[in-house]
Amino acid sequence: MAYINDNFIKIPATYLFSEIAKRVAQHKTENPEADIIRMGIGDVTLPLPDASVDAMITAANEQRKSETFRGYGPEQGYDFLRNSIVENDFKSRGIDIEADEIFVSDGAKSDTGNIGDIFGLQNRVAITDPSYPVYVDTNAMGGRAGEPSASGQWTNLIYLPCNMANNFVPELPKEKVDIIYLCYPNNPTGTTLTKEQLTVWVNYARENNAIILFDAAYEAYITEENVPHSIFEIEGAKDIAIEFRSFSKTAGFTGTRCGYTVVPKSVTALSENGEKVSLNKLWLRRQTTKFNGTSYVVQRAAEATYSPEGKKQVRALVDYYMENARIIRHSLEAAGLTVYGGVNAPYIWAKTPDGIGSWEYFDYLLKEKNIVCTPGAGFGPAGEGFVRFSAFGIRENTIRAMKRLEK
Ligand SMILES: *Cc1c(COP(=O)(O)O)cnc(C)c1O
Repeated sequence: MAYINDNFIKIPATYLFSEIAKRVAQHKTENPEADIIRMGIGDVTLPLPDASVDAMITAANEQRKSETFRGYGPEQGYDFLRNSIVENDFKSRGIDIEADEIFVSDGAKSDTGNIGDIFGLQNRVAITDPSYPVYVDTNAMGGRAGEPSASGQWTNLIYLPCNMANNFVPELPKEKVDIIYLCYPNNPTGTTLTKEQLTVWVNYARENNAIILFDAAYEAYITEENVPHSIFEIEGAKDIAIEFRSFSKTAGFTGTRCGYTVVPKSVTALSENGEKVSLNKLWLRRQTTKFNGTSYVVQRAAEATYSPEGKKQVRALVDYYMENARIIRHSLEAAGLTVYGGVNAPYIWAKTPDGIGSWEYFDYLLKEKNIVCTPGAGFGPAGEGFVRFSAFGIRENTIRAMKRLEK
């Protein structure tokens, strides 16, 4: 008899986006004429930058000829891409990161989900609440989360509530933790940490021998000066942090698939016999064992985002979504809602009116306004009483949706 990993069946079955899809489908069945505008799921709508498509065509043609054909590439990614990343995402900001600290992948979801492989089950894990569901669910699958409780919290995870009372800046945990997930600019709240606020966490990690797993998938959306684009802008972070990046939200790669993870050679954690072990070496071992690299064609597409034209085209994509964000923020405020985010992130986090529940407000917007948002409760207990609006829609739909709301 074969047995399953029982951790999988502990995870509540109702997945956020399938529940949303179910409710939208039912509304559509009952109202076939309804002109539904989707501002829920976090996928982009604009096409890839031309520079990336051109690079893929060129690379695909290389794959056609035996002289230029490429088979398995380096598991960590091709040098051309890792060197471009180092130059453009780090050296240009005065951050000293080397190419062998960059691990190219098929996206940040895989990396933020897989990173748990290299950490022991005895680690105490802290996760901001609300959060991107991957952090909680992969810790649950790995057996590091304990048991789910009626409150929606896992018994072994330490939740760091982000709410109006703390202005969405998590407070340091009261008990000692070993691993901390931070995502800034944040999905789902759209809020950020300033350099000073992130420094508090870096100092905590240094003092407590903890590791920060920093998800910077929305780095490109930062507009304000004092918001760090990388955790490695903070002094001392290179000893305690791993950073995740993605081309998905930056350059429209959600369907093309490319991201990377930075594991500085100076980051270490303890083995059971108390030895300091390099996490860069462990992650290299993990990736070379379980991953055979991102496709050559896609890595060329990612590299092209750093060309002069590529940079301009990426900037135009980000600016387009951020104008949507400005419109959404403005309209929600005009409609009398209290809103957060939308300044350094493509998400707007809105307090539901009159303290009604997330799903109740979701249903109201769906049935009365034909607008689909994302209920905040789906991102964790502290998300109850909020909904998330995405700025990834097309402009015309964003404007039409907001007109309906202002009425
Ligand atoms: C979208 C997203 C990602 C990952 O995206 P990939 O497409 O897998 O690169 C990672 N983290 C957060 C917070 C996201 O919202």
